Amino acid sequence: MDYSKKSKAALIEEIKALKRLNDVLIKEQIDETRLSFGWAGNLGHWYWDYPTNHVTFNPLKVEALGYKLEDIPSPVPYDFFTSKLHPDDYNRVMQNMIDHLKGVTHVYEVEYRILAKDGQYKWYYDRGSITKRDETGKPLLLAGIVFDITDKKLQELNMAEEKATLEIKAVTDELTGALNHRGIIEQLKESTKQASHINQSISVLMLDIDDFKLVNDTYGHLTGDSVLKDIVVLSKENLRQTDFIGRYGGEEFLVIFTNTSRKLAREIANRIRKAIEQHHFTKDIKVTISGGVYEYPGGSLYDLIHQADINLYEAKRTGKNKIV
Ligand code: GH3
Ligand code: MG
Ligand code: MG
Repeated sequence: MDYSKKSKAALIEEIKALKRLNDVLIKEQIDETRLSFGWAGNLGHWYWDYPTNHVTFNPLKVEALGYKLEDIPSPVPYDFFTSKLHPDDYNRVMQNMIDHLKGVTHVYEVEYRILAKDGQYKWYYDRGSITKRDETGKPLLLAGIVFDITDKKLQELNMAEEKATLEIKAVTDELTGALNHRGIIEQLKESTKQASHINQSISVLMLDIDDFKLVNDTYGHLTGDSVLKDIVVLSKENLRQTDFIGRYGGEEFLVIFTNTSRKLAREIANRIRKAIEQHHFTKDIKVTISGGVYEYPGGSLYDLIHQADINLYEAKRTGKNKIV
């Protein structure tokens, strides 16, 4: 239709007619949403007129955000919604829309957080596409649907958090907070693999508390537990970010020194030993440790741990409170 030949009055009539049709269509859309898709009461439809930048939608999209239709500007500009996006989601949403407008993607499809009237963020799943173009291919109209997925998303996030917590728990020693047996062995596999890959030296220390049975027998198991915790704290204070400590067994700890020669590992081990020897433990208990250091020559991890163990027993045999 050639609008340029129409009179102003005719154009106004035309607009009124379109508006009426639009109102009916929107009403139908609302009814359809409520009837046919009763299970999805949180479904919203939107139509974005690209040249005018006006957005038409069924009220659910804004009602779900806590707004009443009379609260919002008319016509609604596109940025009425985009200005309410979570700052961390904004760029991703915009890029997704730009990609679609440029023809990089078939659909615009994103999940984002959007600010509701009560100041809380809701999660929306939004999906749409260009439904009309002009003769040159430029977008005229985009249409889409939007779901409130807040409950589902929070559940998902909770589950992801729980999973992460469980994964950490699975490799952590509850008493001391060091890695547990499984954790330190997994780390040793990883660290030795990396060290071999980049041709770096890596050393381990097998550390055992001297006469720990005596501590337990004299002061009780709970005091023994507190000593174990202190040992880990003191060790960590002398380790670097890249080193690891794990509880290998009851009162035996395995330390991994990343990118470290045997000589340096022995130095650090001695620092730990001295820190423990000089520490004021609860009830003024004197505690010492013995340790066996070994540099990984390649090959099996069993051999590596066994060699560190042999050195540890040598330290015990020759008087304790020393590193071999
Ligand atoms: P050595 O110098 O030869 O290592 O003597 P030790 O007494 O330390 O060695 P032994 O292997 O005879 O005893 C280790 C003790 O560690 C026995 C055990 O009760 C204690 N132990 C192991 N795990 C724990 C724990 O979780 N808490 C406490 N309090 N004690 C523990
Ligand atoms: Mg011991
Ligand atoms: Mg022991």
